[in-house]
Amino acid sequence: MTFVIPAPTQPSLPTTLGDRFPVRRVFCVGRNYADHAREMGHDPNAEPPFYFTKPADAVVESGSPVAYPPATRDFHHEAELVVALGRGGTDIAEAAALSHVWGYATGNDLTRRDLQAEAKAARRPWDMAKGFDCSAVIGLLHPAGNLPANAAIRCLVDGKVTQAAHLSDMIWPVSAIIAHLSRLVTLAAGDLIMTGTPAGVGPLERGQTCRVEIEGLTPATTRII
Ligand code: MN
Repeated sequence: MTFVIPAPTQPSLPTTLGDRFPVRRVFCVGRNYADHAREMGHDPNAEPPFYFTKPADAVVESGSPVAYPPATRDFHHEAELVVALGRGGTDIAEAAALSHVWGYATGNDLTRRDLQAEAKAARRPWDMAKGFDCSAVIGLLHPAGNLPANAAIRCLVDGKVTQAAHLSDMIWPVSAIIAHLSRLVTLAAGDLIMTGTPAGVGPLERGQTCRVEIEGLTPATTRII
C-alpha cells in the first residue's frame, strides 16, 4: 500500500526489556481517588468510573523536557499508575482482566486546569484541557508481575512532595477499570490506561522538575521549559 502523504510515526515507549511498546490509544480515568474527587468538589461515592482520552502521540518519554503549553495559566501535574495492555477484548471479566495487562509504568497526566474548569462550566468536552501536545509523560514500562499491591505513589515538584497515596486507595482497581472500559469500547493490545490521580494536584512552572514515583517502578521525570 502507498499513502498520499507520509504515514505518521508509530508512537511507542521504552520498556525494561529493551524492545519498545507500541502505543495505540491512551484512556484516562477521572476521579479514581476519593480524596482527589473531594478536592475537585465531587462525591467519590456517587458515580461509576468515567473516561477521557489523549492522542497516542501526546505520549512523552520520561526525561524529555516538556514546553509549558500554550493557552493556559494553570498547568497541573497528576501522578498516575499507567497500565499497558498486551491483549484486548470486549466484555472482559474482572477476574480475567489482569491477564490482559502487559505491564505498568509511572505517568503524569498533564492538565490545563483552567481550560478544564471552563469546559466543565460550559458543559463542553475536556479534550483541549487534557489531550494537548506532550500531555502524557510516561516512565519506563515494566512487565506485569513486580508491582506491589499496596505500592506508594508520590509526586514531587523540585523535590517537594505534592501528592502521596497508595495504589490501594484507588476507588476502581485496575481489574475493575479494564472490565468496565471493555464494556464501552473494544480494547486492544497497545492501549494505555492512566488510572487517575490522588489529591494534591497543583501547578507547574517553567524551570520546575516534576517527578512521579511508584514503588517498584521507574520514576517519570519531566522538566518544564
Ligand atoms: Mn488524571
